[in-house]
Amino acid sequence: MSKEEKQNQQTETESYNERSSYRSFDCGSFTVEGFSRGPVMTFWRVPEFKLGFDLGWQPWEFMGVPRYFLTHTHLDHILALPAYLARRMMMDMERPTLYLPEEKVESVRRAIDAMAEVNGSPLECELVGVKPGDEIEISRELIVSVCKTYHSVPSVGYVVWERRNKLKPEYAELSGPEIRDLRASGVEITAETRVPRFAYLGDSSPQGLDENPAMYEADVLVAEMTRLDGPVEDETQSYKSGHLSVGDYALRRDKFKNKKIIAGHFSIRYSQEEIEEAVRQFLPDMLDGRLVLA
Ligand SMILES: [Zn+2]
Repeated sequence: MSKEEKQNQQTETESYNERSSYRSFDCGSFTVEGFSRGPVMTFWRVPEFKLGFDLGWQPWEFMGVPRYFLTHTHLDHILALPAYLARRMMMDMERPTLYLPEEKVESVRRAIDAMAEVNGSPLECELVGVKPGDEIEISRELIVSVCKTYHSVPSVGYVVWERRNKLKPEYAELSGPEIRDLRASGVEITAETRVPRFAYLGDSSPQGLDENPAMYEADVLVAEMTRLDGPVEDETQSYKSGHLSVGDYALRRDKFKNKKIIAGHFSIRYSQEEIEEAVRQFLPDMLDGRLVLA
């Protein structure tokens, strides 16, 4: 089969655009919905948190998400941005907030302005540049932190933390009235604890996981598995790739403490069969059943 015939076959049999569907993963107290194929489209949301991650595509029902966190500006991760803004304008919804690597704010602003001109009406949003180490307060309960990731353009990952105020251990033995009196006297009896609930890597070579422990600890991790090759002898090769392979997962299998790991962004050059076979080969127990494929 010629290269062109193979390409035609792939575009016909794996018409993800036409399918326009997405997967829904029940993660206990929240749901993760979306889909990802490199370099076709990547889009996710956690409806309970009202947060979206990457905008490579947008099902109509995702339009209500008021905040999107963009990992990087490759088109398969931001292609639906102008449509998302136009839809919200048309439906009289408040302007959304988009977080993205700070290096790209200006060029994305120019792209939105150009699309507004093409569209013939304004496309309003707030663009917030972020860098690794930043923290964004979403609500009393939720904070999003920004992590360094490694890709071929400026990129970041995100972790959603749930914060809870817990009684400090030194007061654990006290009775209800004693605690009330202490609090009334102005003593700080609680301390904030943070639990990583959801981590989103975006596109990255393995350092994006290794350098951000919360990626391995979050209840749910959404990460990429673009390539299906095995572990390489020289890890620096993996570092240069800007992506993860199934072999990179196999090498790190003991590091994943997550309750659920959702892997996606498989290259479109692989069929579903090839994906499943490679994952079975390198990770036969699906990381103790915690790994699911998007
Ligand atoms: Zn990319």
